Amino acid sequence: MDEKTTVRQLMKRAIEFRDERNWKQFHDPKNLAAALSIEAGEIQELFLWKSKEEVERFVRSKEGIKRLGEEIADVFIYLLFLADSVDLDLSRAFDRKLTENGRKYPVEKSRGSNRKYDMLG
Ligand SMILES: [Mg+2]
Repeated sequence: MDEKTTVRQLMKRAIEFRDERNWKQFHDPKNLAAALSIEAGEIQELFLWKSKEEVERFVRSKEGIKRLGEEIADVFIYLLFLADSVDLDLSRAFDRKLTENGRKYPVEKSRGSNRKYDMLG
């Protein structure tokens, strides 16, 4: 499905869902940023107190990957709403940021390294 779906199509569906419920009035950037962060916390909650092995088992289980997918989708939906609330072109922002990250983390210096860009030397 990812291969044939555009960000624009997903944004349109999310906005239609929101507008059918007249929820735009609640969707200011501050509240959407909070909702996004809360949903990201729900991803962490799924893994909380589990060992690395338990997390691996969880994400390989049918129920585990379903739950993780639900929370990742919640994050993505709020990300779309947040971008819409400030008229941000997500694809452009993604492109600019990944390009910038490529400058900060050139392959020859960062490949296989977990160092932050200012410690790459
Ligand atoms: Mg959730």
